Amino acid sequence: AHLDRIEQIDGQLGAFLHVGGDEALAAAEAADQAIASGEAPSALAGVPIALKDVFTTVDAPTTCGSKILEGWVSPYDATVTAKLRAAGIPILGKTNMDEFAMGSSTENSAYQVTRNPWDTTRIPGGSGGGSAAALASYQAPLAIGTDTGGSIRQPASVTATVGVKPTYGTVSRYGLVACASSLDQGGPCGRTVLDTALLHEVIAGHDPRDSTSIDAAIPDVVGAARAGASGDLSGVRIGVVKQLQGEGYQAGVLESFQAACKQLTDLGATIVEVDCPHFSYALGAYYLILPSEVSSNLARFDAMRYGLRVGDDGSHSADEVMALTREAGFGPEVKRRIMIGTYALSSGYYDAFYGQAQKVRTLIARDFAAAYEDVDVLISPTTPTTPFKLGEKVDDPLSMYLFDLCTLPVNLAGTAAMSVPSGVSSDDGLPVGLQIMAPALADDRLYRVGAAYE
Ligand code: GLN
Repeated sequence: AHLDRIEQIDGQLGAFLHVGGDEALAAAEAADQAIASGEAPSALAGVPIALKDVFTTVDAPTTCGSKILEGWVSPYDATVTAKLRAAGIPILGKTNMDEFAMGSSTENSAYQVTRNPWDTTRIPGGSGGGSAAALASYQAPLAIGTDTGGSIRQPASVTATVGVKPTYGTVSRYGLVACASSLDQGGPCGRTVLDTALLHEVIAGHDPRDSTSIDAAIPDVVGAARAGASGDLSGVRIGVVKQLQGEGYQAGVLESFQAACKQLTDLGATIVEVDCPHFSYALGAYYLILPSEVSSNLARFDAMRYGLRVGDDGSHSADEVMALTREAGFGPEVKRRIMIGTYALSSGYYDAFYGQAQKVRTLIARDFAAAYEDVDVLISPTTPTTPFKLGEKVDDPLSMYLFDLCTLPVNLAGTAAMSVPSGVSSDDGLPVGLQIMAPALADDRLYRVGAAYE
């Protein structure tokens, strides 16, 4: 049924880069048989999923939205892919994304535009706009995204779906093509908090093949979602981040946020205002740390090992082939970030840029730690505005970067956060998201509060 739905409507939305018809059907049949014989491998066996095209799969191309990887098929499955398969979850296909997960609107994909199902003239968010659009248009009941600076939460917010950025190190990055390794984290996306929790349980867990994987128990997110569904939040202390509201935020978004605060109070929670003074510097720090890591990670696309190779006709040196390939294979945003990162890491500038940004990162982590001494979770709008029009910000990188203002601090601190639908804005009728944030390894709190609120 989902494959039929994709065939019917994805031509208008552009959520998928690749649809795995036969493989998905075979996996669904295998899951059906396992269920019939009383051996369902997981609670989600047979429930299909859309996978962001940044996780490797042996039976489908992995492009990361980039021409440099066009047609490339990985020799191994990512750990997340392998866990989905082991849980009997059929993979419907690979979803569109900003090139190497750099962007906020999915317009940086080298292949196609993805449209927001709520209004097809608007962006579906980014970089995981394909996964969010697939969910919101009922082409898939579950999806996987990655969140380096907001790419799960922000698309969830603008499509009225649920998206979770788990604690850094709790979902394996093995086979997740790197954008910025100290920030990247795979995570679950769904249409309800409980669906998302069930998927979270499947993909999380220690992986010795990822050197930053945490060897700790994953909190009981499914139990927390079920407990939260009772709607009782008495005893829960919630902090409203002073720095994540006010000037520059759309009136309808702030109105929805005030209504959310009132609803959480009505459910029994206590709401207090919390000061996180260094959050104002998160954007600046992020856009030095991320490009620095990008410039290093993307050096592997050297025309020798993967995908595209341009100029290999006997008349060019290896260096020239590499330069020609990178010139042709990378899009403008990727090139911009490689240049910024290379500059920030160069000798003489390292301390002034990269070193300084790392200090800000520590201060932001301390702001979170101080806040969590007083409250269980923090909240804010997920995005400062509702989804903008396709094309509106493509020529203005800074205004594009500002769309992730509320989500970036969590990635810098390595903590956990969720975006849960918060109705529509009264000024334009478009979706608004509520961001809930929790300390590292307390992801269960997101699900308790999120399930009570939704
Ligand atoms: N939009 C942010 C960026 O462009 C976040 C991307 C992400 O989370 N992958 O870097």
